[in-house]
Amino acid sequence: MTGTVNEFEMAQRQFDHVAKLLNLDPQIAEVLRWPMREYTFRIPVRMDDGSLRVFQGFRVQHNDARGPNKGGIRFHPAETLDMVRALATWMTWKCAVADIPLGGSKGGVIVDPATLSTTEKERLCRGWVQNMWKNIGPRQDVPAPDVGTTPQMMGWMMDEYSKLVGQYTPGVITGKPLGGGGSLGRTEATGYGVIYTVREAMKHLKMDSKKTVAAMQGFGNVTRYAAIGFIEMLGGKVACVSCWDRHDKCAYTYSKDGGIDPHFLLTITDEYGTIDKAKASKAGYTVEDGDAWIAKEADVLMPGALSGQINADNVKKISKRVKIVAEGANGPTTPEADEYFKKNGIFDIPDFLCNAGGVTCSYFESVQNDMNFYWTKEEVLEKLDTKMTQAFHAVLEMSEKEKVYMRDAAYMVAIDRVVRAMQLRGWV
Ligand code: GLU
Repeated sequence: MTGTVNEFEMAQRQFDHVAKLLNLDPQIAEVLRWPMREYTFRIPVRMDDGSLRVFQGFRVQHNDARGPNKGGIRFHPAETLDMVRALATWMTWKCAVADIPLGGSKGGVIVDPATLSTTEKERLCRGWVQNMWKNIGPRQDVPAPDVGTTPQMMGWMMDEYSKLVGQYTPGVITGKPLGGGGSLGRTEATGYGVIYTVREAMKHLKMDSKKTVAAMQGFGNVTRYAAIGFIEMLGGKVACVSCWDRHDKCAYTYSKDGGIDPHFLLTITDEYGTIDKAKASKAGYTVEDGDAWIAKEADVLMPGALSGQINADNVKKISKRVKIVAEGANGPTTPEADEYFKKNGIFDIPDFLCNAGGVTCSYFESVQNDMNFYWTKEEVLEKLDTKMTQAFHAVLEMSEKEKVYMRDAAYMVAIDRVVRAMQLRGWV
């Protein structure tokens, strides 16, 4: 949240714009403009020092016409109900555009997980499930990790749910650890998925990926694998990544002549994603302010952190060299920045297409949980590549056929699929 953007208003504005382009029946549009169900609840947690703290929890289920609701849980100090509503709405479009049989939801807790001990985090996770267990489940709503949550937390949540229902139920949640019902490839899936779409965009734009440079924001689960994929699958260079420094309470951009080495940076990154500044400087990295990534000379920009990061205030800093914006994060581009992209011919791969690799692999995880039979990493990644490539081309085709911007085309593909499911079920 940037303070100037309300993400839910942004999600509704994007939807309204496309509903108009599609001539969507206003009564059907009214169903889709708002989430179907919302839960807000208080989670009391016994802290290690014996005191009691109460946390605010959320779960928003936007639309389950195409299948059980699906979406992550964020642990973030600035979480709001509107933020969760926006993210739940984008999940509906994400699952539809990826053509996986799931709906859209999102959850959250107002908390900075870095301030909790491991046992406090475990009690908070179990408390979240104690509040929500009747309203989630493999055929109802399936959470997953997101900003501030981890596979270990998913493991605790799955355990709590299984205890409450009296049955081992791995399919209640995805993004679980390996050996605890998780899928191979899930950790890499969002970042690699971003790269599969960038690869297809480069083919479309006739760019030689080996000669390209990407500037990336963030160094969490999305960006680190997107950086590895950009270098190892596409043969390009990554000029920079950035991260939130939890000691200095600000963000920094880390760049290096000749390109950063994500594997090295991972060796000096702590469990909360903060890169060790001193060690990076010693290894020849330039450390600049958190916004510097956006102005780098690059062919591809990849925002991979929070929402509202490319906005009216900074969009003009983007280098003229940038041809592709690959939205690894959810909601990184405000409608004002979208206008700038359109005017300057920047090819945008919209968030709910670009970062759909995570939820697509989550879908594979739940399928494997149901079968109780697990695929190899190669099998998972091959299936993921096929799904992401198909989704990219469905959107590109729509964009060319209707002569619309990629975000609008992605909305058109997604809305069409969700409306069709609602009609087939007799809802509208
Ligand atoms: N939190 C991820 C997203 O925003 C993954 C969701 C999931 O796997 O359900 O797409």
